[in-house]
Amino acid sequence: MAKSAALVTAILVAGGLAASATFAAQPDAGGVAALMRQPAVKAALEAAKAGEPQTIADQIRFCEVPAVEFKEQARAEVLKKEFEALGLQNVHIDRAGNVLGDRPGRSARPHLFWAAHLDTVFPEGTDVHVRREGTVLHGPGIGDDCRGLAVMVAMVRAMNTAHVQTEGTITFVADVGEEGLGDLRGMKGLFADHKGDIDRFVSMDGTGLGIVNTAVGSHRYRVTYTGPGGHSFGAFGLANPIHALGRAIAKIADFQVPKTPKTTFNVGRIGGGTSVNSISASAWMEIDMRSRDQQALADVDAKFHKAVQDALTEENARWGTPGVLKVDVKLIGDRPAGHTAPDAPIVKTALAVTQALGFQTRLGEASTDSNVPMSLGIPAITIGSGGAGKGAHSPLEQFDTADSWQGTQRNTLLAIALAEK
Ligand SMILES: [Zn+2]
Repeated sequence: MAKSAALVTAILVAGGLAASATFAAQPDAGGVAALMRQPAVKAALEAAKAGEPQTIADQIRFCEVPAVEFKEQARAEVLKKEFEALGLQNVHIDRAGNVLGDRPGRSARPHLFWAAHLDTVFPEGTDVHVRREGTVLHGPGIGDDCRGLAVMVAMVRAMNTAHVQTEGTITFVADVGEEGLGDLRGMKGLFADHKGDIDRFVSMDGTGLGIVNTAVGSHRYRVTYTGPGGHSFGAFGLANPIHALGRAIAKIADFQVPKTPKTTFNVGRIGGGTSVNSISASAWMEIDMRSRDQQALADVDAKFHKAVQDALTEENARWGTPGVLKVDVKLIGDRPAGHTAPDAPIVKTALAVTQALGFQTRLGEASTDSNVPMSLGIPAITIGSGGAGKGAHSPLEQFDTADSWQGTQRNTLLAIALAEK
């Protein structure tokens, strides 16, 4: 943890602040209106809307290629081919597994990075076939984030069709490791590789037209209690890892946390033991804690560590066998918290673009790829890609395509606007 904090500071000094100071201004409402009067931009917005059937077909096609966490290669290859076919430059897969492609502007800067994530939360072997029912698509990952991937491709297609020449350069990224134990490894790798080169960042994640400007941070741990184990009758009197785990969970369940800033905790998985008539040799749990406030996150984190240690002491003391049980606490997820101010130029431009097209939006908070740039002080937001989603992260996930073109169109205009000085 200390290491990653040091890295964050180093990147901030090396690139984030300097870059954002150079390219702080972006189109306001007036600038957006002027952009929309340009014939090429107008044509791109029309193409974005007219191309929606193709966008939806892409969304289905990408989603039917499995992309399990840490095994995103197959879907990455599909996006790489897509980027090449669209004529993006310097198309490649980086060290982390992200697919990158540049659409050069008149100048290199401002350099806008525009991402959607490849990975899903579903285990290997999940049926990824997409079923259509009227306007609704059913399939795991169909909204989160096959929608983002399809809209990314649609945006480039619309800009190409209309021969839009942006001022700055846009690098499109289909990234890995956004979900679960991926721990934002795609973004951590991207921002480590492009220090000082990223002026603005937008992630398209999921559905609707919302704008996330607050990054909820999270800490995740795997806790394992171990002991000698033995026969439930014959070895009775031995401290029990499962009982220690139960003590810890009972303490965690009673944690008091602030409502504002919203701070949460959840024991999401538990396991251990071999049979009903054995004192187990081990027991484990996985816990997730979140807050948009680093201090509140640190506070609940401290409570968690104390609960785990106290449970260990109590279980050992219960049987008068200090030191018999041991505990291992492993950090398995560390997503930094961060914030882009509501009056930051990138947020104002996103609001102005959405309003100029006559659509509704609102600001929100979430844990997304933007956590990384926000924690580094680089202007960043995460936005929806249109349509209406239900049941994200469940096998019953669905996506309603009614008016989903609005997302494609809004995001196309936003990319053009954010590539302006
Ligand atoms: Zn997502």
